[in-house]
Amino acid sequence: MTECIFCAIADGSSPAHIVYEDTDILGFLDIRPVRPGHTLLIPKKHAADLAELSPELGGKLFVAGQSIAAALRASSIAADGVNLLVNDGRAAFQSVFHSHLHVVPRHHGDKLTLARGLLTRRDNDMPATAAILRAQLEGPRR
Ligand code: AMP
Ligand code: ZN
Repeated sequence: MTECIFCAIADGSSPAHIVYEDTDILGFLDIRPVRPGHTLLIPKKHAADLAELSPELGGKLFVAGQSIAAALRASSIAADGVNLLVNDGRAAFQSVFHSHLHVVPRHHGDKLTLARGLLTRRDNDMPATAAILRAQLEGPRR
C-alpha cells in the first residue's frame, strides 16, 4: 500500500469522487472544498512538487484545468469565475506532496478567503456535485 494518498486515489485503492480522467491526469473533488465543485487535478504518476513534475505533465494539468473551469461555469454549479492554484512547498501551504492543481469555482460576491474557508470547508452532497461535473465534461463543450 502506497503512503501517498493521491497515488492511492490514482491506483483506486483509496476512494474519491472522480470527475475527470485521461491517460495521464486524474481529477477528483477536494474532500474539504473551499466551494462545492472544488476539484483537484493530479498527474497519475507521482511527482512530489513542481520541481519533480515534467513540463509536459504540467502542461497537461493546465489543459485539464481549463476543461474543469469551463464545466464549472457551464454546469448548474454556474461559477462566475475560477481560481487555478498550485501550492508548491510547505511555505506555500502545500500539505499533500503529490503535486496538484486546485480548480476552485467562484461566484460574484462570495467573499471567499482561504483562511476563513479552512474553517467551513464542506460539501453536503459530493456524489451529486461530482455527477454534475462529469455530465458537463462528457457533454458538448458549448
Ligand atoms: P494543498 O494544501 O495544496 O497540498 O492541498 C491539499 C488538498 O488535498 C487539501 O485541499 C485537502 O482538502 C485535499 N485532500 C487531502 N486528502 C484528500 C483526499 N483523500 N481526497 C480528496 N482531497 C483530499
Ligand atoms: Zn503520489
